[in-house]
Amino acid sequence: MIVVMCKGATQEQVVHMVQRVEQLGLKSHVIVGTERTVIAAIGDKRDEHRSSLERVPGVAEVVPILAPYKVASLEVKPERTVIRVGPLVVGNAHVGVIAGPCAVEDEEQTIATARAVKAAGATALRGGAFKPRTSPYSFQGLKEEGLRILAAAREVTGLPVVTEVMAGEDVPLVARWADVLQIGARNMQNYRLLEEAGAAGKPVLLKRGPSATIDELLLAAEYILNAGNQNVMLCERGIRTFETHTRYTLPLATVPYLREKTHLPVVVDPSHGTGHANLVPRMAAAAVAAGADGLMLEVHPDPENALSDGYQTLNFQQFSETMALCRRVAEAVGKVIASL
Ligand code: PEP
Ligand code: MN
Repeated sequence: MIVVMCKGATQEQVVHMVQRVEQLGLKSHVIVGTERTVIAAIGDKRDEHRSSLERVPGVAEVVPILAPYKVASLEVKPERTVIRVGPLVVGNAHVGVIAGPCAVEDEEQTIATARAVKAAGATALRGGAFKPRTSPYSFQGLKEEGLRILAAAREVTGLPVVTEVMAGEDVPLVARWADVLQIGARNMQNYRLLEEAGAAGKPVLLKRGPSATIDELLLAAEYILNAGNQNVMLCERGIRTFETHTRYTLPLATVPYLREKTHLPVVVDPSHGTGHANLVPRMAAAAVAAGADGLMLEVHPDPENALSDGYQTLNFQQFSETMALCRRVAEAVGKVIASL
């Protein structure tokens, strides 16, 4: 249920309502808006407490939350969440661009890429130190050394670092070095990991599982939000279908759909979504046209010799052309791609 407080409700009335909600064995989430405060009361399936809460002073109305996800829903928080990490702004008419190699390979490759993506207008650096590879015989990432290299690239460029954490026990280590924790597609439903990442105090980029529904993605986000972390970005990165010409199928309708259902910003990853570098520029532009709040793009100095995902990775020239195209589209749809 959502308890909507009256416009002039006092702080005491809000505190009192939170106590009432908790006495009923429900979890409370207070969302302070510019107009009024709402309290989400979570955990009650049958609305049996609705009328008793309606009688509490300062309450305007109590309404059931219809969606299966609660705290992520636009019903609970009509104001859109904006993620700000240094120069990276995702949401509020800003298209944040997170770019960099699939995997951190060495310091030279990472710093050269960070410099190039920054020059072309990216405001965050991506790069995997812990790599979830389909085959255990493929390059698994430089792990802690990779995190150190990412931090060195941040030092040189000022770009915040977005990097994947694959296991709950790695969260403290990754959170020490990273600015944004990425939960990979394969781990979208690793609920203990979501809770650990949610509790780490860093913004989280949550990728959609290749066979997860949108409701499942939103419920996964709910685990992070419930751990007390409001800074969650959702990422559409393509789903598995019968189509084999692209690595995954990138459903861009996810973007306007999510924007109707949730206040959380939506990032699109056309690199994994298509699996082919030549398809990335147009799909990045299409994502911006569809209303994406951010883009995640794989970029490498020499994609042909990349240790992972080279076939879907842009070189510096291609990245800079993609940015120019996306800027024109952003302008046409009333958004900005700001650079550092
Ligand atoms: C990645 O972004 O490096 C990655 C592994 O992506 P995904 O989890 O979407 O496959
Ligand atoms: Mn990759």
